[in-house]
Amino acid sequence: MSKDDTKLALNGGAPVREATLPYGRQTIDESDVKAVLDVLQSDWLTTGPAVPKFESAFADFLGCKEAVALNSGTAALHAMLAAQGIGPGDEVIVPAITFAATANAALYLGATPVFADIDENTMLVDPSSVAQAVTNKTRAIIAVDYAGQPAEYRSLRTIASDHDLLLMADACHALGGSDGGKPVGTLADASTFSFHPVKHMTTAEGGMVTTDDPDLAQKIRWFRNHGITSDHGQRAKKGTWSYDMVSLGYNYRLSDLQCALGEAQLPRLRNWVERRQEIAAQYDAAFAKIDAVLPLANRENVANAYHLYVVKLELNRLSADRNVIFDALRAEGIGVNVHYKPVYQHSYYRELSYKDGICPVAERVFEGILSLPVFPTMSDQDVEDVVEALQKVTKAYEK
Ligand SMILES: *Cc1c(COP(=O)(O)O)cnc(C)c1O
Repeated sequence: MSKDDTKLALNGGAPVREATLPYGRQTIDESDVKAVLDVLQSDWLTTGPAVPKFESAFADFLGCKEAVALNSGTAALHAMLAAQGIGPGDEVIVPAITFAATANAALYLGATPVFADIDENTMLVDPSSVAQAVTNKTRAIIAVDYAGQPAEYRSLRTIASDHDLLLMADACHALGGSDGGKPVGTLADASTFSFHPVKHMTTAEGGMVTTDDPDLAQKIRWFRNHGITSDHGQRAKKGTWSYDMVSLGYNYRLSDLQCALGEAQLPRLRNWVERRQEIAAQYDAAFAKIDAVLPLANRENVANAYHLYVVKLELNRLSADRNVIFDALRAEGIGVNVHYKPVYQHSYYRELSYKDGICPVAERVFEGILSLPVFPTMSDQDVEDVVEALQKVTKAYEK
């Protein structure tokens, strides 16, 4: 693009990029392909040896006692709450700004999600709002490490201890992050991860619960297998047909094909997270010079794993709203996104009679947020394209 070519692609100008840069993308190499093919040609496509191998590699990576693989991050949330005995009549506190699955997991069990507001600088759940949301029905808090930054676990733990609540983590954004040197996944009583392709590592679909509590891990293993206490692989080994179903569970198993893919990805995860952090640092430096674009604040002593790189638009400096800026950036070839609308503003939750105004900060901040592309194989040129497009678009709509 020549320097004077300021006409927006939205208005027929030349776009910054011809091919759209996605906001996230998986990384797959030959070692991944080989790992999956090896399993495909083996005796066990599911409930075989690749499952515990992946689980123990994942637990070793985080330094926790137990990791239980499930077939999605959502299944992991459901299983984590079910295994803690969450049910009808219970309230579970969740942040207003998260993927709907965090709150849905409570609904699956007949429990009630109660939404807590966020801190406007970090967009992490605000501990004071959590404390205000506690009632005599509250059983658990689910913290969300929004965008990849660990939530304020120390404050949340104090609230949980004061009221005898479980503290759980939806850590789906933050694999590879840490707080005071302690890895995400070890900061709560139990934590969940997702291996959807847009996350830090992938098994196509998949998830994990991590915990130091072996009884809880056991219950989750039953829950993912219909509430039956042994799986097909274990019975084959023992030469028995007999099994017992001790509770009501689901088929939430992750296949051996997927576990092999996960185990093959794991050794590269550290580097991938570092590349995400590098890209975030480049964005931070560039946006320090663009008045209308404000990156999220980082807390002290945390390592942000940057599943997302979220900026807040300073809407009072712009003559367009977020949705126009979004369209303009998409037209420039930048695959921006929005994470997330406050969960209770979705139609389904409105029908459950959640009303606007529950979390005013979340509602206001939501109006101005954009997620920019960040994934490990992005080049420095890709990063420059994103910055250039933001410069171009915010300049065009400068007040
Ligand atoms: C991705 C994600 C989930 C759900 O994970 P799936 O594997 O897609 O089911 C849950 N919570 C958050 C915060 C997520 O980002």
